[in-house]
Amino acid sequence: MPEEIYSYDVRCRTCHTPFKVQLFESHEKNLFLADKKDWYCEKCKKEYFSEQTEKLTRAQQAIGLPDLRGSQKMVSWAVKIRAELMNKADYLKKSLKFANDDERELSGKVFERFFKEWQEKTDAKWWIDHRKMSVQAISKRVEEISESIKKK
Ligand SMILES: [Zn+2]
Repeated sequence: MPEEIYSYDVRCRTCHTPFKVQLFESHEKNLFLADKKDWYCEKCKKEYFSEQTEKLTRAQQAIGLPDLRGSQKMVSWAVKIRAELMNKADYLKKSLKFANDDERELSGKVFERFFKEWQEKTDAKWWIDHRKMSVQAISKRVEEISESIKKK
């Protein structure tokens, strides 16, 4: 069969460059494709991702997080992971309840040290390796830091 039948002409929503997308063999999936209006060419997709990365990096710099080292692809991924993990840690921090001011003060110190540890992780790879870190895992590390401060 000629190749034309298996591709579909669309235009990039951002730059309006026409390009072809591959069609599926199932008619149902093709109906979905024909309905889809948000097409982005490879170039715009890449630009979009680097823009997202830049935005996240700037937001993270604003809260004291350093630039990450690694290939562009890894950094772009790692910055996204770091944003998610920061959200988890923030969530945990905000969900804690304190019986008194001493506890509140201790928790403040603990999180300060916890975030300092993360500030020192400047390798994109570290974030990628820890991408599945759960709130529980963060909580465990926070607990460890808390214990080590109490011992002093
Ligand atoms: Zn485009």
